[in-house]
Amino acid sequence: MNLFEVVLFIVVFVAGVVCAGVAGQRFGGVGLVLGFAVGSATTLLVLRVLLRRGNEAASLPPCRMPEDRKHRYRAEKGTDGEALFECSCGACYVLDAKHFTQLLKDGSLRPYMKRSRRGARWEMDL
Ligand SMILES: [Zn+2]
Repeated sequence: MNLFEVVLFIVVFVAGVVCAGVAGQRFGGVGLVLGFAVGSATTLLVLRVLLRRGNEAASLPPCRMPEDRKHRYRAEKGTDGEALFECSCGACYVLDAKHFTQLLKDGSLRPYMKRSRRGARWEMDL
């Protein structure tokens, strides 16, 4: 566990204790247990969503080049609503709200991956 995880754990724990205190005063022992569970679970979910947003490059699908195993992306300048990423192997990709499309050397776009309906996973963009 690194320092960041310790801080996250404390935040989640404190949120659980606060909710347990509030629910415990109203509903007694059952409220205490349920309040802690609901408070900490909700905080954990919110933090997960927030952290995923902030770390977009890490949540991108792997590079499509078979010889490339590191697929380290570097963010390039994008246009409105689109972000441009260059892989360490030289392949370029365009990310918009739903699609992760390969930008070929001649400037044309080749579909690669798209977000699943709920946005949590990547699937092939055909
Ligand atoms: Zn690559």
